[in-house]
Amino acid sequence: MKTYDNLIIGFGKGGKTLAASLAKAGQRTALVEKSPLMYGGTCINVACLPTKSLENSARQSAIQGGDDAARQLHFRQAIEEKRRLTAMLRKKNYDKLVSSGVEVMDGEASFLDDHHVQVLTKEGPEILEAHRIFINTGAKPFVPDIPGLKQSPRVYLSESIMELETLPRRLVILGGGYIGLEFASMFANFGSQVTILQPNQRFLPREDLEIADAVETSLARRGVRLMRNTALKEVRDEAAETVLILKQDEMDSELRCDALLVATGRRPQLDNLHPEAAGIALTSRGAIAVNEQLKTSVDHIWAMGDVTGGLQFTYISLDDSRIVTDALNSGPRTTANRGAVPYSVFMDPPFSRVGLSEDEARSAGYDLKIARIPAAAIPKAQVLRKTDGLLKVIIDAKTDQILGAHFFCEESHEMINLIKLAMDAKLPYPVLRDGIYTHPTMSEGLNDLFAAVL
Ligand SMILES: Cc1cc2nc3c(=O)[nH]c(=O)nc-3n(C[C@H](O)[C@H](O)[C@H](O)COP(=O)(O)OP(=O)(O)OC[C@H]3O[C@@H](n4cnc5c(N)ncnc54)[C@H](O)[C@@H]3O)c2cc1C
Repeated sequence: MKTYDNLIIGFGKGGKTLAASLAKAGQRTALVEKSPLMYGGTCINVACLPTKSLENSARQSAIQGGDDAARQLHFRQAIEEKRRLTAMLRKKNYDKLVSSGVEVMDGEASFLDDHHVQVLTKEGPEILEAHRIFINTGAKPFVPDIPGLKQSPRVYLSESIMELETLPRRLVILGGGYIGLEFASMFANFGSQVTILQPNQRFLPREDLEIADAVETSLARRGVRLMRNTALKEVRDEAAETVLILKQDEMDSELRCDALLVATGRRPQLDNLHPEAAGIALTSRGAIAVNEQLKTSVDHIWAMGDVTGGLQFTYISLDDSRIVTDALNSGPRTTANRGAVPYSVFMDPPFSRVGLSEDEARSAGYDLKIARIPAAAIPKAQVLRKTDGLLKVIIDAKTDQILGAHFFCEESHEMINLIKLAMDAKLPYPVLRDGIYTHPTMSEGLNDLFAAVL
């Protein structure tokens, strides 16, 4: 039996970062990953980076246009380009970890007790003993139980849809969340007719109402159809197409498509891990329960990333590795003091957010100053011919500090990081209003946006 100072289960962002730093510090460290096709984790193989590679290709395809054959060719080239990228990143991630002294082991890990893990390798089971264990097993798609859904060959998840060989003429997306929207925007740019089915009346219910409306208007302009209050009741395959049986506002209807993407959320990945064998407690939602330093209910076991049931972003998993590093070294970082967490939905144009929406800020009892400008008011948006969108900020009238920012515009994913910094530094908004920005950029729109504060 091999014995380690540290055992990391899962090759996610937090796990690989922590593993490398522990190994470089001279500690005997192993990392177990169940699939060699997942070296580097979800982000680089099947999520953030491949989707952004495809999104970029889809924008170019939309600009080039062309007939069906040209569109199909762009799509196939985009999938090939994405495969080359992920293969390169996978190798780079593996090499980097090994060269930092981490022992990478292929196989699925299951807890035997709080210091022993069985790894099911190709050669058979192997037992590892570890002084400290870190769980970083990520999340997996949640697939609802709908008749015909799991059996249909035309039903895809985020991972499998990125392996299609043919661009679907009609794509239906089940779920109007962030992942669904990214694919909706991307496939609309590739040239598919896209329909989104969402169960609620309100589109993007957690987002600021004005921004949600602006996103919806922009999608509609690009031909994306949104069906509200719509439940998928059944999936029926015919020889050349798939029929979706829908219930919308109590009325049954049919929708025909060539592909259905299920984007109904992701749940913590605990398959065959058996955390209960180590005495690790779960939350009521089936995530690994952790405290603010990401320690589980067992003193020498920590968890990072999506498996903890928190925000599902790669940079949160990375930050989790910093928190665990601090926990091991009596440092101050915790989940409670990460500051404002921004996020972006990489549509065309992207929308990005940090902090509170107007409604949330009002409910929290703040007196507010609000500012908004259309994206079209920014010269760079005109240069890029990306004039859809809206920028809105919410400010605490008492302190002049920013409570929230909601940018639906080109480059919003870059701009939002500036606002996070300003919020964490508690800068009053005039600092951004009077800042010097390079020209022409989308960031210089902050001059006008903050000058519009009422
Ligand atoms: C389509 C899509 C797009 C996304 N886009 C973005 C984006 O643009 N930006 C962003 O920040 N986030 C994005 N996300 C979310 C992001 O991908 C995740 O939050 C992030 O990858 C989670 O990383 P993690 O560290 O929790 O673990 P993961 O990267 O998920 O790694 C977990 C690893 O553990 C392995 N594993 C699981 N169980 C076991 C076991 N028992 N034994 C051994 N190995 C095991 C898995 O094979 C996997 O490699 C996206 C997600 C999706 C689905």
